[in-house]
Amino acid sequence: MVLPVESPAPIAVTRRSLLAGAAALAAAGTMFAGKAVATPSRRFGHGKFQIDVFSDGFITLPDTVIAPDGTPAERADIIRRLGGRQGTANIPVNIPLIRAGEALILVDTGSGDKFQATAGRLRDNLLAAGIAPDAVTHVVLTHAHPDHAGGILRPDGSLSFPNAVYHVAAAEWDFWMGQDPAARYPGLSGFVPGARRDLGAIAGRLVRMRDGDEPVSGLRVLATPGHTPGHISLELAGDDGLLITGDAITNVVASFEHPHWRFGFDTDQDQGVATRSRLIERAAAEKLRMLGYHWTSPGFAIAERYGAAYRCVALS
Ligand SMILES: [Zn+2]
Repeated sequence: MVLPVESPAPIAVTRRSLLAGAAALAAAGTMFAGKAVATPSRRFGHGKFQIDVFSDGFITLPDTVIAPDGTPAERADIIRRLGGRQGTANIPVNIPLIRAGEALILVDTGSGDKFQATAGRLRDNLLAAGIAPDAVTHVVLTHAHPDHAGGILRPDGSLSFPNAVYHVAAAEWDFWMGQDPAARYPGLSGFVPGARRDLGAIAGRLVRMRDGDEPVSGLRVLATPGHTPGHISLELAGDDGLLITGDAITNVVASFEHPHWRFGFDTDQDQGVATRSRLIERAAAEKLRMLGYHWTSPGFAIAERYGAAYRCVALS
């Protein structure tokens, strides 16, 4: 696990030091840019963990997926605020690489070449930062959708992270690999072959997880079903709370300001709403910092109560 020499020292982010940390991180981005790294990582400290957030690129989603319950005017406003146009927005993909002692843990793998062509940059961005893919010791999957698990395999069929063990929720594995998932959720049929391909590729390196398990000490699995039946988030031990939310809270506008709206790609949309509402309510009450997979890069934010709902306050 090689770090760029120019890397800034880990920044211990507490609520008090967040503003100072944001300025330092902006400076760090400039330094990375100076080394011709196309997409700089961002570094955060949390307890004993050091987290670098890498971009996998972006995916493009229509307003009918982002906010199917919004009126046309509400959807247009959300797309505008996401920087999109004509009913679609480009949505970032933020992937945390967590160091804990000797462990180098990736949370999700990005799309590889298996989803939209604007995503799949993770491996190149790791290499550009001097991180060898074979140094990754653990991959933890939040779920098996193609923008999260498509990067398990390289185009030639080999594993992108050949030395890692792969942690997958038992419920997620059993759903996709069990009896025809699309029989229960017909809308899923397009995702099933890819999920079976990607999960099948790691069957020999699999660790099945349950709620409360710790893939490494202090990194705890939090079952957050709905987006997929076995979707998980991660809770990191540290002085303040930190949640890695995967796709339990998908969008910086719609999910926070309208937590009771459905999300188009949730497998069980009612369960998705219930999980999202519960998670945001807890995060706001406990002032937990969160890292969102599809939030404004690098995806680090808190939920703040705002009127009858919340707003997403980015922390860098
Ligand atoms: Zn996703």
